[in-house]
Amino acid sequence: MRVKWREHDGAWELSLRLDADEDITGEVTDGQRVEMATNGCRVRPAVPAGEVHPDLLALLAWTVVAPWTRSRIVFDRPVSPEFARALHDGWGVEAGPVGGAPRPRGRVLAISYSGGADSAAVAAILPDAPLITFQRVGHTRVPNRWTHYRSDTLVRLAKATGRDVTVVQSDLEFVLRYPRPGFPEHHAVMAGAILLADRMDLGGVALGYEIGSRWLGGGRYVHRYTPDNPMWSGHGPWGTLFAAAGLPMVLPVAGISEAMTMKIALSSKLRDQVRWCLRGDAESACGRCGKCLYKELIQAAVEGRPLRTEITADRPVAQKWQRPPPYGGQEMIEYGCARVPNIETTPFAKAAEYLRPTIESTRWLERLYPPAMAEIPEPWREPIERYMTEHFPVMDADDRRRVETWGSR
Ligand SMILES: [Zn+2]
Repeated sequence: MRVKWREHDGAWELSLRLDADEDITGEVTDGQRVEMATNGCRVRPAVPAGEVHPDLLALLAWTVVAPWTRSRIVFDRPVSPEFARALHDGWGVEAGPVGGAPRPRGRVLAISYSGGADSAAVAAILPDAPLITFQRVGHTRVPNRWTHYRSDTLVRLAKATGRDVTVVQSDLEFVLRYPRPGFPEHHAVMAGAILLADRMDLGGVALGYEIGSRWLGGGRYVHRYTPDNPMWSGHGPWGTLFAAAGLPMVLPVAGISEAMTMKIALSSKLRDQVRWCLRGDAESACGRCGKCLYKELIQAAVEGRPLRTEITADRPVAQKWQRPPPYGGQEMIEYGCARVPNIETTPFAKAAEYLRPTIESTRWLERLYPPAMAEIPEPWREPIERYMTEHFPVMDADDRRRVETWGSR
């Protein structure tokens, strides 16, 4: 793989070229097979990035090209030995040219902000941290068949928070043809934070991954306890690479469940700007997609009320919950089914029968998993841990056993 950056009029343009032993079929860290649609993309921050350390440009490029890179990558400017070593140790990839000093860590922690409940919870916990929002824009060479995706609405809501928000536009999701446009690696959502890290003096980037995504294998992939999660653990390949670029990832809510991040977000000042659905209009979420139904289950459980939805069990978006488990985000299905009144009259009736959860069997999902705090880098560990222990009971041995045997029972 060869990559090259060109800055023009505030936009950073990445072009890439496959080596002879590489082809357009690749594989993401989570195991998803992907196909490349085009050989370039752009990132345009709302403010000029200025001088950018070569390790940051290499990191940003890597979030785009990692799925297709086999054994070596050639950057257009030298990366530090530390950065090259992280690529080698994490992926077995020879990176070069090598030379120059690593990037010194900055002092500011920014939030990679999507507007969903998880990142709104992070924003509520870190009230002074700047928000950086990724906005999908069209690609000049790839047609957009996903026009229902309302990135303009998400940006408007982010700005309505009244926080320090920096929007970063990019077409990098269109580098993917298959299975659909999206982040080549999930880490590409941090494109803006990576590109602006020097300008904004960033020493870390905070993300809204909760206990399910960080420790329970995530909804989309495996369903088991994953202390060595290659994407989000502090010591995994991605965690090590971001730290080598002086921009460690910080997961403030990785010790609590999606129900608890929902609770934080909906009781915060950001409540009116929280939006987890990418469809819908300026006023509200669509209410018709699978994500809306899933989040409604969690919200109803948190608010202790019956489900409000017009989706019935025979709808295609509800099909997955008519089948036996495992389900993506199963811990939240258990939590919701144990708490939502009249669950037997909802699209989750079958899931409730299969899982038979109780208040007691799901109580661990209201408590803090301490190993998640140990992963938070200094100087942010102490204030985040203080917030968490003030708001949530710490898991006992039985709770921890439920986390650490997840998916193996
Ligand atoms: Zn929706």
